[in-house]
Amino acid sequence: MNDPKNPPSPASGYRGRFAPSPTGPLHAGSLVAALGSWLDAKKNGGKWLLRIEDVDGPRSIPGADLEIMRQLLACGLQWDEEVTWQSECQEDYQSALEALNQHKCLYPCTCSRQTIANALATQGIENPRNQEMVYPETCRPIELGINNLSTRKMAWRLALPSNLVIEFEDRWLGTQKQQLNQAVGDFVLRRSDGLFAYQLAVVVDDAAQGITHIVRGEDLLSNTARQIYLQTVLAYDRPQYLHLPLVLDEHGEKLSKQTLATQIHTQDTKSVLQELQKAAAHLGLRNLPNRESVSIAEWLLAATHAWGNQSNQKI
Ligand code: GLU
Ligand code: ZN
Repeated sequence: MNDPKNPPSPASGYRGRFAPSPTGPLHAGSLVAALGSWLDAKKNGGKWLLRIEDVDGPRSIPGADLEIMRQLLACGLQWDEEVTWQSECQEDYQSALEALNQHKCLYPCTCSRQTIANALATQGIENPRNQEMVYPETCRPIELGINNLSTRKMAWRLALPSNLVIEFEDRWLGTQKQQLNQAVGDFVLRRSDGLFAYQLAVVVDDAAQGITHIVRGEDLLSNTARQIYLQTVLAYDRPQYLHLPLVLDEHGEKLSKQTLATQIHTQDTKSVLQELQKAAAHLGLRNLPNRESVSIAEWLLAATHAWGNQSNQKI
């Protein structure tokens, strides 16, 4: 992996990416994120990178990475540089953690989920089901210092300054604002089982790969302020963000591998074009060529021209 402080800079400037977690094959929702990020990169003459986000090893499904790559290629969505795997970048995450430690903004935490829920309950805060709990700072020391990171079986949290409001312009959704202390609190960067958290890994990788534009699903919107704050502390450049509308199932739930969303059909050109057409319609792209008469490459070219001209967005 490249050095996050010294990322590559292509002539076009634009470097985008698609960063699926290999927890299953692509479904209609993840295809929207893949297509949206690919179209935005191509429209801007940029590069489109593929990163397999297998930082959470136990949740990864063996072979899902290769299946995703096969599906992307079947859809004509070819990446421009070598694919990277987060599982091969552990040293980069450790270095970033050490840099944060040198800035005296880390502390160890031994709380279980239950301890946190109990501490919140004594403050009269009930934990809404399946919601991320705002950490009540039980383990936060009064004075922050440089720690010995080698200690095992404890989580490492980022100590937020008080009243931390992060604001950014989303290219689709407009101005976004999050009060980090109230919305998430001191969040975990390395878990007690030794795994690095998604928030840290994604920020280190985006910087190391010189990503300038992040286009992804709206389900990740609430993570963006945390990621921007980490970029600030680590002195990385801040990419531009665009969060795409989510594909919902008939119950209004986000399609996900957990809800067993069906994988996209890529067995022949007709099926691929149908899937692409559905994803494009979801992105507000209209008047694309009739799917019977075009090749996948021709269809993608037309979609690239149409991208950015949708009436329902601010790209
Ligand atoms: N790996 C994340 C996911 O599949 C996406 C991360 C990102 O695009 O920032 O949900
Ligand atoms: Zn704790």
